[in-house]
Amino acid sequence: MPALNRRQFLAAAASATVASAAARPLNVVMIYCDDLGYGDLGCYGSRIATPNIDRLAAEGIKFTHFYSGNPVCSPSRAAILTGRYPVRAGVPRVLFPTDTTGLPDSEVTIAQMLKARNYATMCVGKWHLGHLPQYLPMNRGFDEYFGIPYSNDMTPRPLLHNAETLEEPAKLETLTPRYTEQALRFIERSKGGPFFLYMAHTYPHIPLGASERFRGKSPLGLYGDVLMELDWSTGEIMNSLRRNGLDNNTLVMFSSDNGPWYLGSPGHLRGRKGTTYEGGQRVPFLARLPGRIPKGRTCAGIGSIMDVLPTLSGLCEAPLPKNPSDGIDIWPLLSGQKPELDREPLLYFDDIHLQCARWKQWKLHVARYNSAAYSPAPAGGRVSLPLPAPELYDLVNDPDESYDIAPEHPEIVAETRNRIEKMMAGFPDQIRKAYEQSKSRKVAPTAVGNFPRAAG
Ligand code: MG
Repeated sequence: MPALNRRQFLAAAASATVASAAARPLNVVMIYCDDLGYGDLGCYGSRIATPNIDRLAAEGIKFTHFYSGNPVCSPSRAAILTGRYPVRAGVPRVLFPTDTTGLPDSEVTIAQMLKARNYATMCVGKWHLGHLPQYLPMNRGFDEYFGIPYSNDMTPRPLLHNAETLEEPAKLETLTPRYTEQALRFIERSKGGPFFLYMAHTYPHIPLGASERFRGKSPLGLYGDVLMELDWSTGEIMNSLRRNGLDNNTLVMFSSDNGPWYLGSPGHLRGRKGTTYEGGQRVPFLARLPGRIPKGRTCAGIGSIMDVLPTLSGLCEAPLPKNPSDGIDIWPLLSGQKPELDREPLLYFDDIHLQCARWKQWKLHVARYNSAAYSPAPAGGRVSLPLPAPELYDLVNDPDESYDIAPEHPEIVAETRNRIEKMMAGFPDQIRKAYEQSKSRKVAPTAVGNFPRAAG
């Protein structure tokens, strides 16, 4: 065989790389925290040390306007796994151990979508889309499951391997190391690829638990210890990818299902978990894929957790499910080709109630609960009421939603309202009816930014 000159050698090497990339579909790791706030990571301004997670941002992309699907747990999980608004995907509210329902069979998860491309799939951690056997991950496209089927503040809190109970109640201080061990085992045995790891941590949702190794290590209490352990876990996953030669062919994403609850930081944002202010739904989002996602970029374009499914459909060449997606393919943002994308408003629902819409830099509030989340309900119950006048906030110049500019921008209020009306026409009956009923309720005049009150 004749020796290749330098140019021939480089051409041959390049085509071999292309061929091997084509022959090796992308692996996907989604690390999804529970109740981690927008301000809880070092790379988002926290004083808690999260060097491994920060490295994902330094070696990949960090989003500053990225939204979970809902301000509470179960609906957000429906949104990430189906790419659809939770009110459309049949999970509008948090599921409890007494519930006998879950994510409907008619919904298609990312895992099911990737199964069509022969991905090995594993769900580790919190599921929260139905705890009865027919709703567990094994029946929703995952080959294997290890974790708690709902939140750690619910009982009896079994730790499951597939559908088998290993421990009840699960020991809180052991969860992050055990989840991590399972994740590493899965990566090791799936390294022939392709694989999808959905690493849905139990923490920092309360009650908190950190192992002996991390307890007392943070200057910011047990919450800080828990975050340091989540950071360690992320480092272990990245080390495993490197050790197994998978580093350059694995898309790693990191996010949270909603804002912080009683502890944790929403950063400079207003509101916390359970509210449709930004602190309830804006979350960190990081993505790393060496060679394809440029290093160290910050994206201020709007992204949603519902975008993960359509983006993976494109990247992994897996056909989109038949159910229409509410997300869009954000690869042009991830790859740095575009700083932002044109998209319809992102709608904020709490339970079945539409409350706000984000369109471009604007956020319109049209309805709000009549009392604070997780506080005693007022007489007559906690209800979502229309605001006496819609409130408009400029999230670029007023990130903490402190200054209503609706009176100065009636044209933006009207345009956003029109877009909301058009979008709502495509939602299921129950959601449309709730919206129409809410609009027709009479409310008393209240101060801007206050809780609305029913008239009379
Ligand atoms: Mg949560």
